[in-house]
Amino acid sequence: MGTIILYPSPGMGHLVSMVELGKFILKHHPSFSVVVLTLIPSFNTGTTASYVRHISATFPGISFHHLPDIPLDPLLYPSMEAIIFDLIRRSNPNVNNALQSISLSSNVIVFIIDMFCTPAMSLAANYNIPVYYFFTSGACCLAQFLHFPTIHRTTTESFKDMNKLVHSPGLPPIPSSEMISPLLDRTSTDYSDFLDFCEHFPKAAGIIDNTFDSLEPKAIKAITDGLCVPDLSTPPLYCIGPLVAAGGDGSHECLNWLDLQPSRSVVYLCFGSLGLFSANQLKEIATGLEMSGHRFLWVVRSPPSEKKEDRFLPPPEPDLSLLLPEGFLDRTRDRGLVVKKWAPQVAVLSHESVGGFVTHCGWNSVLEAVRAGVPMVAWPLYAEQRFNKVVLVEEMKLALPMDETDGGWVTATEVEKRVRQLMEAEEGKAVREVATARKEEAARAMEEDGSSRVSLSKLVGSW
Ligand code: UDP
Repeated sequence: MGTIILYPSPGMGHLVSMVELGKFILKHHPSFSVVVLTLIPSFNTGTTASYVRHISATFPGISFHHLPDIPLDPLLYPSMEAIIFDLIRRSNPNVNNALQSISLSSNVIVFIIDMFCTPAMSLAANYNIPVYYFFTSGACCLAQFLHFPTIHRTTTESFKDMNKLVHSPGLPPIPSSEMISPLLDRTSTDYSDFLDFCEHFPKAAGIIDNTFDSLEPKAIKAITDGLCVPDLSTPPLYCIGPLVAAGGDGSHECLNWLDLQPSRSVVYLCFGSLGLFSANQLKEIATGLEMSGHRFLWVVRSPPSEKKEDRFLPPPEPDLSLLLPEGFLDRTRDRGLVVKKWAPQVAVLSHESVGGFVTHCGWNSVLEAVRAGVPMVAWPLYAEQRFNKVVLVEEMKLALPMDETDGGWVTATEVEKRVRQLMEAEEGKAVREVATARKEEAARAMEEDGSSRVSLSKLVGSW
């Protein structure tokens, strides 16, 4: 019937979410075909390449068009975002070639891009292909981004220096220091790039968001009522989530260990694909966990390397005997498991023995917890995670806050206190009840007449 071109930004999280969108569309509208444009930086090929091979082999409706590599030196850039933006900008001629060649051989009906891929938006006009955004974080974050150009025009100060609450339609007041991190400093290039992206949102034919109506009703209403972009019309919003990647390794040792633990007794700690802590902070977490007396499953990675050239490489295998307090593993042997580097998170969160999740508040992790009905402790680290924490704690009531002292340090006492609250106290009971309700709503949203399926039908109808 037609071809859908998806253009995710590089980075596993965005690629996986985009592919889930493709799978979701094909599941309910199998006559379409999906082509994913992939941009795999040469300094980071490993996991992405094997994931692409796996999807190609298992989903015949999805094919991949690899954009030529652009050689660049990661050490010349101030941030990972800066590398990605430059890669995307410099890939534009290749994206143009891809659109041209795919359009020659098939009937392309829509071009769906990640927010970071905004530079490719103008190309689609040459081929009369409508452009939609796929937004991989929540509607609250989307509402904030949509409103950001208005805030930019009405102030000259950086969020990092404002020291006040920021009020935006559909959102709880956000302390300016907790704003989405690339927006904090208006003199940075990341700030200008994000401003540019945000100004492009209203030009899209539609915005697809990985969330569901009853998770973020106020933000969704503010967006659809046009309150976030007061001076322009807002494109239609399609909330089609929660889309969660199935799977991972179903035979991982930690799942066997979870089988042996009592129902809802284990607190799971994991900080996304990039979250790293200093050696001192790891020791402090260990001490807090030990003091809490609770069962735990903890994913531990090596601290960030001090060498500049290692900045963008995955950290090496952690040496637990060096990183954790002496005797910690022995003393907690009967109630705790430390997993190195990576756990099959979706399977872990859906396991009956898991009763709580200490998370960095990445949106995929949040959706995976919501879908599994697991309450959270919010310990944000990077990107939009500090913003997500405010939303999870103040608005959604799905998480307890992990409080930091100056400089982002979290004490063992704070870890102990929050784990205890989550697992045994009234505060934990309250967030657990909300999590259970959202789990049921998430499942309902994905049923045939559920809000996300209705949204998907409207979206496909708009093509
Ligand atoms: N993840 C996992 N095991 C880990 C760490 C992360 O399976 O040990 C998965 C997690 O389930 C989620 C993704 O990696 O799907 C992380 O995405 P998120 O948006 O939460 O955070 P990011 O890594 O993008 O900061």
